[in-house]
Amino acid sequence: MRSINNNIGNNIVVGEKVEVPIVNGEYVHSIDFDNAATTPPFCSVLNDINNFAPWYSSIHRGAGYKSELSSKVYDNARYLVQDFVHADKDKDVVIFTKNTTESINLLSYVLSQQTEHQNVVLSSWMEHASNDLPWRGKFLLDYIEIDSLGRLSLNDLENKLIKYKGSVKLVTITGTANVTGYINPIHEIASITHKYGAKIMVDGAQMVPHIPVDMMPFNTPEHIDFLVFSAHKMYAPFGIGVLIGPKTVFKKSEALILGGGTFRLYTHGKIQWSDPPLKDEAGTPNVMGVAALSSAIQTLISIGMNEIFSYEKALYDYMVEKMSHIPGICFYSDTSKEDTVSIVPFNMVNISHQLMATILANESGIAVRNGFFCAHPYCERLLGLSESDMEYYFNHKNVKLPGMVRVSLGLYNTYEEIDKFIKTLLLISQNQE
Ligand code: PLP
Repeated sequence: MRSINNNIGNNIVVGEKVEVPIVNGEYVHSIDFDNAATTPPFCSVLNDINNFAPWYSSIHRGAGYKSELSSKVYDNARYLVQDFVHADKDKDVVIFTKNTTESINLLSYVLSQQTEHQNVVLSSWMEHASNDLPWRGKFLLDYIEIDSLGRLSLNDLENKLIKYKGSVKLVTITGTANVTGYINPIHEIASITHKYGAKIMVDGAQMVPHIPVDMMPFNTPEHIDFLVFSAHKMYAPFGIGVLIGPKTVFKKSEALILGGGTFRLYTHGKIQWSDPPLKDEAGTPNVMGVAALSSAIQTLISIGMNEIFSYEKALYDYMVEKMSHIPGICFYSDTSKEDTVSIVPFNMVNISHQLMATILANESGIAVRNGFFCAHPYCERLLGLSESDMEYYFNHKNVKLPGMVRVSLGLYNTYEEIDKFIKTLLLISQNQE
């Protein structure tokens, strides 16, 4: 496995060789175990955007060389994205947004214009807030149940689809959970969803960088209708998100953000809107961001998504096995589940999640995330917090919130880094005794 690591991780990603100060003045290696939040850029991405930087320009409306080049880079990126996730080239449209959050807000706005208010959207208890809050108010929102270990209940999905008797418009579900790393069976969910006349949106923020994604052909029951994801979680910088879905759906509704680029003609008070995707990309587009996303996708393809999943899963198995021997460690996910990306939520008895994250950072230069990870309802369930517990925290703003520590690995992390992490956890555990 270590040789796979060297093939995959070596010299591909910047960021892991940074020296950071520790409390006593010595310097230690920085280890980034917070990839579910944001990944460092690929070296190839930095090279490509450096090379492209002198040439970027406003697209689609200029005749100069730079504008034509930029238009080409931008337009070609849509094909690359379509290929990468096997979207339908004829029927699907790729809309560039700011991030996953904006993509979901845009889709929610678009669908809300095409539905009765009482239409139902089914989300789940395992969602990031960005795939929950945008649906509130616009739809009757209900949540698919999870079990005590936070795994999605497909029975409950089907029961709810039956209960709402054809008025479910959309099932919106994460591809992989940002707290537990569970991979949801999106094609099975799509089949069940389509059987009841609803459509499915997959939140791919934590899935697209880690496992192969296939939206499948339009005419199959397993087809994914809408897919969203963010570039900054797949080794490109901030500022670009993706929303993919049928062109016909976007054509039917008004744009959420209005302005330049959204119309073909505006005269005497009359507006002729552009077709999607342009209608939904108001203002001067982020060509640099799109160039960076294209570069990251090319690097991911060249490494191979199956190889990335296998390597990260091997790292995960290695890490949870070692962690399970450390006294006081408590996991909040089913670590034996095979369909999992490399995310581990945990705590150590008698140590707050805040303190654990601080010690890991200050003593060993290991960056993790702690808290509720923008998935409050999910974390409440995993931590076994009751409604009255949460009421207390709601009413006492100065009280520190409970939470957990999350380790999330990327394709460039190594076994040596995990060994160092385990060593630090052991020391912390021994100091507790
Ligand atoms: N969905 C999931 C599952 C996430 O993990 C995140 C971010 O962590 C988001 C959505 C929101 O992504 P962004 O902040 O890029 O909009």
